[in-house]
Amino acid sequence: ANAMLSALPTTIFSVMSALAVEHDAVNLGQGFPDTEGPADLVEVAAAALRDGRNQYPPLAGLPELRAAVASANLRFCGIEVDPATEVVVTCGATEAITASLMALVNPGDEVVVFEPLYDTYLPVLRMLGAVARPVRLLPPDWSLPRAELEAAVGPRTKAILLNTPMNPTGKVFTREELEFIAGLMARHDVYAVCDEVYEHLTFAPVRHVALMSLPGMKARTIRIGSAGKSFSMTGWKVGYVTAPAPLAALVAKAHQLLTFTVAPNLQRAVAVGLEKDGAYFQQLSESMRRSRDILTQGLRDAGFDVLPCDGSYFVIADFAPLGFDGDDVAFCRAMTCTLGVTGIPVSAFYDPDGAPGPRTLVRFAFCKRPEVVTEAVRRLRRVG
Ligand code: GLN
Repeated sequence: ANAMLSALPTTIFSVMSALAVEHDAVNLGQGFPDTEGPADLVEVAAAALRDGRNQYPPLAGLPELRAAVASANLRFCGIEVDPATEVVVTCGATEAITASLMALVNPGDEVVVFEPLYDTYLPVLRMLGAVARPVRLLPPDWSLPRAELEAAVGPRTKAILLNTPMNPTGKVFTREELEFIAGLMARHDVYAVCDEVYEHLTFAPVRHVALMSLPGMKARTIRIGSAGKSFSMTGWKVGYVTAPAPLAALVAKAHQLLTFTVAPNLQRAVAVGLEKDGAYFQQLSESMRRSRDILTQGLRDAGFDVLPCDGSYFVIADFAPLGFDGDDVAFCRAMTCTLGVTGIPVSAFYDPDGAPGPRTLVRFAFCKRPEVVTEAVRRLRRVG
């Protein structure tokens, strides 16, 4: 059997969701919305099934979805994209991340990643024989450690893997930070893979900036989005990659090996979704912001230190002031079993083979109805 997969633990998201079900806890662990996405998109998908959209679509994605991805790039980020050669549709951002790294790296290549990091990045890099070079961001503001990043980029660096808005920190990389990264990329001839699944989930006045939109970066950047996040349909698993044509062709080849195509009815619905007006995307982030504010205030009232959150579905809270005797894994278990609220221990987002990260931080997902967040907060007030 494959040694790396044998050693890989089951994802913390599934583990904590199962524990939440077992204890009838309010699940603010795994990041999935508890409301349905737009009803009109469900109708488009259902109608497409009935219309006989049920055979293999084109490998790179339905032309109408590729066109919609290209025009969304222009509308939201000012990036000009050729839908015929620069867009590939994948089974969620999860496949897009793997396919993009497959497209770029050869065994032995180094890829810079930022810790804390999303749980698929390191195992995928290692399966590809790449060498991950973690650069650690530090709480409470997780700002870019420029000297450390500069030291991590060298002649063996193939790419920088960047997630903004960032899971689990809620950090949104600033334009200045992205310009610094872009400068290093140009100087060292390095690519970037940008996981931007939360691109529409930022909270004013903070706005998402796509690294790909900075001068000279389009030729070196693979940008990833997800309908799961932008349309609150995480089960649909429709992702999209924007990349310069030579790289998009390689991402398409990786996609050919991994899954080949994506359900055509869902692609059609996502194409309609991407053409929604600005009010839809604004309302999405405003409703998320309301839940974030209820949760943040409730966590403070319960005695946690709450870290800043400018984007994504997630906020991090420090339980150190509560005087709990144990690490974040023990705390999250106890919180689920005794208080009936589930979160994710932030240590799960660090390289298990690297230096230990923070041990008193919990990630809470607020992509839930306000009454659900309010109930979680009510339960948490019993913590002290
Ligand atoms: N991305 C989601 C999260 O961070 C969950 C995805 C998953 O369960 N694999 O919670």
